[in-house]
Amino acid sequence: MAHIKYRSIVLGMTALACAGGFAQASNLPDIRVLATGGTIAGAQASATDYGYKSGAYDVRALLEAVPNLGQLAVITGEQVASIGSQDMNDEIWLKLAKRVNAVLAEPDTDGVLITHGTDTLEETSYFLSLVTKSDKPVVMVGAMRPATAISADGPGNIYNGVAVAADPRAKGKGTLVVLNDTIHYARNVMKTRTTSVQAFQSLNRGPAGVVHTGKASWFEPMDKKLGKASDFSIDELDELPRVDILYAHANMSADLIDAAIRNGARGLVIAGVGDGNMTAPALDALTRAAKSGIVVVRSTRLAEGIVLRNNEVNDDEKGFVASGELNPPKSRVLLQLALTKTKDPVAIQKMFYEY
Ligand code: ASP
Repeated sequence: MAHIKYRSIVLGMTALACAGGFAQASNLPDIRVLATGGTIAGAQASATDYGYKSGAYDVRALLEAVPNLGQLAVITGEQVASIGSQDMNDEIWLKLAKRVNAVLAEPDTDGVLITHGTDTLEETSYFLSLVTKSDKPVVMVGAMRPATAISADGPGNIYNGVAVAADPRAKGKGTLVVLNDTIHYARNVMKTRTTSVQAFQSLNRGPAGVVHTGKASWFEPMDKKLGKASDFSIDELDELPRVDILYAHANMSADLIDAAIRNGARGLVIAGVGDGNMTAPALDALTRAAKSGIVVVRSTRLAEGIVLRNNEVNDDEKGFVASGELNPPKSRVLLQLALTKTKDPVAIQKMFYEY
């Protein structure tokens, strides 16, 4: 524990505490751990209970549960939030992203590890990948089992996550997600199972690599704009534009589309059936929305495949954007950031190709 120190910034308070002494001079990389809650910090009444409370343990308890972590890096822990990630919102995204940029700008910091719930991990990681202004590694981990469970997966994921954050080969890859011995690019990763420890997959393209007992092997590079190459900046933002996701199904009416627009959505993502399709009434409502300046993105409710322009729906004629490989939650993230720059669907389509 000699290389682990803690800082709490919950609710804007800054307090320093230390377990086992502050880091001594060392050649190890400096990794900042930002904790946000989730099942990884969850507690059950007993080790075999089904129910548990997310975010019950703080960053210190999470790090102390990982054997030999101090041999990988000099670690500083901070508590940024304590929520189940189903409650993740724009405000915490902006706070977290600003904190990530601030700590990465410190010359001594070599990388960041973020602990996070798994429910919205795919969205937060893609958001950070688009707004982090540094090539230094940013790695996110979660866990499918609470910290008190039999065979809790959190400590192993934290160990592997720190190893990846400390790995120079992780530089310039945008935000990476490490769970169950697999390294994922934020853009590709999707939660595909409700409770199994094998809950995350990189669909369409496959993972960025694998990591076992802290030893990483890397696969394909990512060819999309991320990190320093991204043109998005949250420095001056206090809020993000409202974008809603609408889930298509048989017999879908226009009602929820109209309600989203009435309630101030500036962009809509349709989780379409098949190749981004929807019923005729829904299509009519979205066509009217696009003509009135609301940006409409066609994605798919399917796990795999690419939504291309002008297949069954004439996107050129209707002024829609096709999501390509991005699933509905990631399309929503990109559209929120895109709308901070433009509402031109042609320019936004280009962003969906580039990011
Ligand atoms: N509901 C939890 C969360 O996302 C699930 C988890 O962390 O695995 O915070």
